[in-house]
Amino acid sequence: MTEAEAVAALRAITDEVCALAGAVAEYPERWEPVPRIDGCAFSGYQCSTMGLVRSLDRTTPGGRALRGTVLKATPGSGGYVRVKLACDDPAHKPHTLTMQKIVLRTFAGECPPGMEARHLDSDPANNRWAPGNEEETRKAGGNLVWGTKAENHADKDDPQPPKPTYPCLNAFPRGTCDGKALNPGRRCIRCTVDVGIEAARMLRDGQNLETVRQHFGYKTGDWVFGLAVRYGGYPAELKDQARTQQPPLKGWRGWVARRVGAAG
Ligand SMILES: [Zn+2]
Ligand SMILES: [Zn+2]
Repeated sequence: MTEAEAVAALRAITDEVCALAGAVAEYPERWEPVPRIDGCAFSGYQCSTMGLVRSLDRTTPGGRALRGTVLKATPGSGGYVRVKLACDDPAHKPHTLTMQKIVLRTFAGECPPGMEARHLDSDPANNRWAPGNEEETRKAGGNLVWGTKAENHADKDDPQPPKPTYPCLNAFPRGTCDGKALNPGRRCIRCTVDVGIEAARMLRDGQNLETVRQHFGYKTGDWVFGLAVRYGGYPAELKDQARTQQPPLKGWRGWVARRVGAAG
């Protein structure tokens, strides 16, 4: 098994565990390769039913190994969020695509003639997808379907679900985030993804889960561990190890520990 195959296998397991964990009432999160869009291929990326895009681990032409990451989505006109993807064609500059287009192309196929992307709750930043007709999609927590212009217009008159309105925990003076959270004192979605990536890095460094929990100020270790699995690709089956592991000692303490170990 090559390293790439091992990573792919691990990802598949991680996705499955995420799916199981999130499968209470909603459609489980699923990652699929981003298909060709407008004639261009994007083989270095995957899209999730949660409305996220991530790059895959890759090696640069210079031989440097780069770890894949969830892409930062930026708000565009009308609140539609966009991401920048490198095209497989090296002659092309990166393409900026709306998240709804990537999600629908990945999970619902080509846009039928005369149709357009419909956000069922009218929130252009909610790009979650679930299969089925409109009603089934809604029930499963999805928000995107291909629909007609008339249907799209009618959506705007529907009652609105709660929107994130509270400043992100990482807003000034703690940080510079201008994202919004659904509840006071919480992080926006983008910062939550960042926590997951960083938490996974800390766990891989040997920090134990309690240290990671305190670092981010969460009430439960289970919650931050779930983020590390979902967004940082940390293996869900290593939870017990994450609770008990200790980082290798550095500096003079490490030197003493090694001497004592060598003597004993
Ligand atoms: Zn292209
Ligand atoms: Zn934020």
